[in-house]
Amino acid sequence: MPGRNHLFVPGPTNTPDRILRAMHVAMEDHRSSSFPELPLGLFAELRKIFKTKEGQPFIFPASGTGGWEAALTNTLSPGDKVLSFRYGQFSHLWIDMMQRLGLDVQAIDVEWGEGAPPEQIQQILSADKAHAIQAVAVVHNETATGVTSDIAAVRKAIDSAGHPALLFVDGVSSIASLDFRMDEWGVDMAVCGSQKGLMLPAGLGIICASQKALARREQAKLPRVFFDLGDMIKANSTGYFPYTPSLPLLYGLRESLAVLAEEGLENVFARHHRLAEGTRAAVKAWGLSLCAKAPKWYSDTVSAILVPAGFNGADVIDVAYRRYSLALGAGLNKVAGKLFRIGHLGDLNELMLISGIAGAEMAMRDVGIQVTPGSGPAAAEEYWRSTAAPIATKQAAGSPDAAKPAETRATRARVGA
Ligand code: PLP
Repeated sequence: MPGRNHLFVPGPTNTPDRILRAMHVAMEDHRSSSFPELPLGLFAELRKIFKTKEGQPFIFPASGTGGWEAALTNTLSPGDKVLSFRYGQFSHLWIDMMQRLGLDVQAIDVEWGEGAPPEQIQQILSADKAHAIQAVAVVHNETATGVTSDIAAVRKAIDSAGHPALLFVDGVSSIASLDFRMDEWGVDMAVCGSQKGLMLPAGLGIICASQKALARREQAKLPRVFFDLGDMIKANSTGYFPYTPSLPLLYGLRESLAVLAEEGLENVFARHHRLAEGTRAAVKAWGLSLCAKAPKWYSDTVSAILVPAGFNGADVIDVAYRRYSLALGAGLNKVAGKLFRIGHLGDLNELMLISGIAGAEMAMRDVGIQVTPGSGPAAAEEYWRSTAAPIATKQAAGSPDAAKPAETRATRARVGA
């Protein structure tokens, strides 16, 4: 099909051209004397993304799933108790990994559409007088349901229970798009991947460990080889890796971090909020609902939109893809068929997103869902225009072109100037 594929899955996201160009590099010796400049610069910049001074970032040739494994195996031993919450496919998969690694998981089911419950965390930890629970693991942004949890509140719950458990947070679809404060929230292991807020292809599993988490390595008996932080710490200290790194992805990451720094992290978060609010205005105009049960759960990186009873979200996604070259996210596991997702994160602006909203609307109408033509894009447009920062017109800005009388400009046009 001619034209661009409109990518609105919540990862991988669009990779800006300048990042694509930065990745287009000849291979080089990753053991050369000049190589360390690249990784050492990346570690310094990554600390800003995680908002940490104390934490130590690690870059694995892996994905978010590898990051999960690195976080668990470097800090825990077989049979250790972990408290976790299942409220979507990704929290489910992380719990599944914990169980397969031989951890004793207290997995609490939460309604899909809600997030981590701080009150319950406080209750459970307060009752754990012997401090048997070694870690609390939560997904910050559950990509499957479009739900963001309040990590500051989770930290407060742990503290008010006076419990020493480590706090592990999956920030795969939040970090570099939503505000994430590793030090302030006392996060001990933060997990991220390259293909979402960082706007890169998949291929890097990036984690950040607190000093408290790193101190657990000695006593942590879960087997680990590829993901052993000990090997990484040794090699990284001089700017090298214990194995062959992916050079294009490292150069891409350097560019991605530069792109984020140029926009400014707080502006990145504000842009994601604006884009999400426009999307939510469209959903409201369609008369549909989000999977997220209440505004406090709304995610600024992905909206999971419930289709009306009697319709299958997978049909909307399939028609959107085949007819309009639009990629929407699928409903996963418990919510399969019940919804479709619009990812609104990464390198994105209003006009790009309005194409996704319009395409989703067209595909919904194609499968018979009754929504008013144009209502979604119109609502998003209205929201974005009414909340946009004032902009000076050429006239107001005193442009010499605008200052010319209309006849002069018309005359100029006639003579082809
Ligand atoms: N956690 C969350 C919240 C995710 O959205 C994903 C992937 O979409 C993962 C973990 C798994 O990451 P990956 O697919 O990079 O292994």
